[in-house]
Amino acid sequence: MDEHGLWGLVACHHGQPWLLDHRSRNAFILLGKVANLELMRHQQRQRQSDRQQHQQLIHQLHQSLQETGQATQQVLMQAAPLLWRLFAADGLAVVFDHSITTQGVTPSTEELAQLVTWLTAQGQTVWSTDCLVQQYPDCQHWAQHPAGLLAINLVIRSPHPNSYHLLLFRPEQIQTVTWAGQLSASIAINDDGRPTLCPRASFDLWQETVQGRSQIWTAQDLDFVNELRNTLMLAALKISTAALERATEQAQIANRAKSEFLANMSHEIRTPMNAVLGFTALLQPLVHDPVAQGYLDAITSSGQTLLALINDILDLSKIEAGQMTIRYEPIHLHHVIKDIQSIFKQKALEKRLKLRTIYDESVPAVILLDEIRLRQILFNLVGNALKFTERGYVDIEVNCILPQQQDGIETVDLEISVTDSGIGIPEESQTLIFDAFAQVEGSLSRRYEGTGLGLTITHRLTELMGGTLTLVSEIGKGSRFTCYFSHVDVAHEASFPQVNPMSRKRQQVIDFNQLPKMTILIADDIRSNRDLLAGYLSDTIHTLIFACDGQQTIELAQQHQPDLILLDLRMPHLNGQEAALRLKADPKTWGASHL
Ligand code: ADP
Repeated sequence: MDEHGLWGLVACHHGQPWLLDHRSRNAFILLGKVANLELMRHQQRQRQSDRQQHQQLIHQLHQSLQETGQATQQVLMQAAPLLWRLFAADGLAVVFDHSITTQGVTPSTEELAQLVTWLTAQGQTVWSTDCLVQQYPDCQHWAQHPAGLLAINLVIRSPHPNSYHLLLFRPEQIQTVTWAGQLSASIAINDDGRPTLCPRASFDLWQETVQGRSQIWTAQDLDFVNELRNTLMLAALKISTAALERATEQAQIANRAKSEFLANMSHEIRTPMNAVLGFTALLQPLVHDPVAQGYLDAITSSGQTLLALINDILDLSKIEAGQMTIRYEPIHLHHVIKDIQSIFKQKALEKRLKLRTIYDESVPAVILLDEIRLRQILFNLVGNALKFTERGYVDIEVNCILPQQQDGIETVDLEISVTDSGIGIPEESQTLIFDAFAQVEGSLSRRYEGTGLGLTITHRLTELMGGTLTLVSEIGKGSRFTCYFSHVDVAHEASFPQVNPMSRKRQQVIDFNQLPKMTILIADDIRSNRDLLAGYLSDTIHTLIFACDGQQTIELAQQHQPDLILLDLRMPHLNGQEAALRLKADPKTWGASHL
């Protein structure tokens, strides 16, 4: 014993304790008791100090992971000396994904990699043994083979597959004991035939039992390691979540950039299609050969399909980029519905389907909605209904619910539904079909063409106008899509802008010679667009002048004072908007011109 307490203890049996006299025996018994007490106190002190150091380590790990965001691996390597002391280990390995770092006495990197694969397959987050060779016989071929192993195995499968392993190796126990005795006899047999253990023999026996084993991992070791595991798990999850957040953010940025790019490029993407379709239309009356006519028809119909697809993609991009604005204006809902009916009349006739409109008479004549977007919604819903119906009917129904008056403003709740007696939509697909590019799986819908964008756009547009789109459908019986708009403002006939009758007859072929003779200035930087307009107007009574940019437009307008200017919005040097402002501000160009 020294001033701190018990310093060490040598204990031996005496071969024949009964030969000791009574007093010596009592003295030894007393000494044994004192030593025992001292040993317990010593162990308790040791446990307390271990616990404190362990807490400190956990705290340190927490801190460094929180503050510096240092990689878990680095933090653990820094804590290696402490970990050795706490776990009475002589080697430590940290494996993070496939990168391995070690300190002290450990197997080689390849051996560690194989061990880690084996440990992962065991599926336990904390794994320990005091005799590795028994559990993992491969280790007997290692140059350095540790006897005991305590391992933390963290495998995170999502959001990103990651794995962390902390391995603590303990040497064989025997190596830590040095025998210094010189006693020769092992087990001796007494005169009366009883075996007597002598120290050397009992040491040999002990050595046999602990051969190839390390000190066992105590409950306290396992408690420590479980706590360490929890801390590491938190760190691992934090790192993984942070990586996921970064990835999500990048994906969102990329997605937004894509949508913005497409939305901004819409002009450039549509322009060549206009040229393809426009020039084909101009060619049609000039070509008389039936085979060539067939080719032109094919170009026209493929061009129209492609344009519809481009329009859908661009619309969706515009919505996603937040560039789709809703313009509320007074509209005649009745006219819109009638128009939609007449657009699809021919298709319904071809399929021998009834296309009916059921119009609630209490719907106000003029309401405030975005006409273009409403047409787009109805066009998609009625188009789908006809596409997916082979017999029966398609009904467009408008109902007006709850006319209300608030602060002098009249509003109504409006329900527009499109019902068909078609193939119906299975329940499991009823939410899915509102996602972009989604179509109902299975053979039924395979024979119908489409991109799977129509309903996504319809849904988004309805929501942009403050409405909801719902679906009720039964397979084999039909579907009913309903748009519900609440508090739609009622407008009055007087607020309705004077509609140019020409705009209602967009489809009609126009004879430009019916217009008074004019000088027309066409401003567009794209040559095919200028040529196209020249093609449409070339055989007419009108005089055409062409400009390639805003600046030239102003100069030519000053020079010729045209009656009509067709001005492209996007042009180099001076864009259409800027040019229009200058043209309007200058009395020389803004005499009789229409822009
Ligand atoms: P598209 O019609 O271009 O494929 P949509 O987004 O308009 O894309 O529709 C998605 C899918 O929803 C269609 O492919 C079809 O499977 C299903 N669907 C839409 N409307 C109907 C309907 N009225 N009846 C049956 N199925 C429909």
